[in-house]
Amino acid sequence: MSLISNEISGYMSKASFIRKMFERGIELKKQFGAENVYDFSLGNPDLPPPREVAAELRNIADGLDQAFALGYMPNPGYPEAREAVAGAVSKDQGVAVPASNVILTCGAAGAINAFFRAVLEPGDEIVCPAPYFVEYGFYAGNNGGILKPAMSKDFTFELNLNTIAAQLSDKTRVMFINSPNNPTGVIYSREELEALVSLVREHSKKIGREIYLLSDEPYRFLNYDGSEIPSVLELYEYSVIATSWSKSLSMAGERVGCLVVNPAMPEGEKLLGAVTLTNRILGFVNAPAIGQKILGKVIDSQVDVNIYHERRDAMAAVLDEAGIEYSLPRGAFYFFPKSPLADDFKFCDILMSENILAVPGSGFGCPGYVRLTFSVGSAEAIRRSGPAFKRAMNKINDME
Ligand code: PLP
Repeated sequence: MSLISNEISGYMSKASFIRKMFERGIELKKQFGAENVYDFSLGNPDLPPPREVAAELRNIADGLDQAFALGYMPNPGYPEAREAVAGAVSKDQGVAVPASNVILTCGAAGAINAFFRAVLEPGDEIVCPAPYFVEYGFYAGNNGGILKPAMSKDFTFELNLNTIAAQLSDKTRVMFINSPNNPTGVIYSREELEALVSLVREHSKKIGREIYLLSDEPYRFLNYDGSEIPSVLELYEYSVIATSWSKSLSMAGERVGCLVVNPAMPEGEKLLGAVTLTNRILGFVNAPAIGQKILGKVIDSQVDVNIYHERRDAMAAVLDEAGIEYSLPRGAFYFFPKSPLADDFKFCDILMSENILAVPGSGFGCPGYVRLTFSVGSAEAIRRSGPAFKRAMNKINDME
């Protein structure tokens, strides 16, 4: 007898390394003190939300004597919040997006799930450059889809159109990208995206149905070198954006995000109606009321990007000193360096023996690398980890 479905049991056993590492991290912190453990494992934004958020929360609290102050609302969200989001998205993307094309969701994760539920037939395929955010495979599976990873170019993690083309089939329904990227920090250039769009258009024609381009963009505001982040709305009419304020307002636990449907999409109103329904029937019903009210008022604020920028530079210096190779992340808050050992799990074990917690690249569909997040601690804490990285590398050099 089994209490759990086979599919979920399988997921649970696959996640065991990360769980083991998480538990080991807790033990290490108890044993050595949290300040002596260098935990680069979890991407939980650690900056406090901007001050405007607290001020707006007080205003919300003052208005709670009204009927329905925190009640159910139309499934796509409060009209004022959708208006505010549409204004911000239009500015960011350089494309006018009306409020009717914005559906507020429980984070980008909720937006992706509601979108997949709306468009996938059982067995439909979602092609996605690897490495990729671990949860994508689960989101596909939740909604009857199959994730088809296409390995990106070695080390630079630019799109590899050959591996992508090889994954296209008559079941392809979605081309799914994430830029700036978790885990690599890569930002796709206009040329790469234009080439991707031509491939997708050609394939759509061949199989006789539209392939959507879904762009997951919660890190769009974290762009350290001022690179162009082209808007998919400009490049392809069947494009859809999932994003959130989990990172830009440090409100990951408040679960507010949105799905934006390209205003140029033929019959886009059908997709908007479908996602409004799936957002409801998946049990989200609507995005959280408090988060939406906050968004409606503070959408132009964000956490201080300079703090992340300083940490990125500190991490680069630590890795340089230790002789660990990496491609400098241009966005998001992760490094994805090459593991000096072919076995990335072994490398993580050695790092852990020096109280450094990292996640093996295998968990992101890319063995031979590891992910280190700099959304934790401070630039100073990152610098303090330098000797531990060097000792770990000495252990590896002694093994050879
Ligand atoms: N997409 C990417 C690439 C992420 O890294 C995350 C969270 O870390 C999410 C989506 C989900 O974020 P949320 O649902 O909090 O917006």
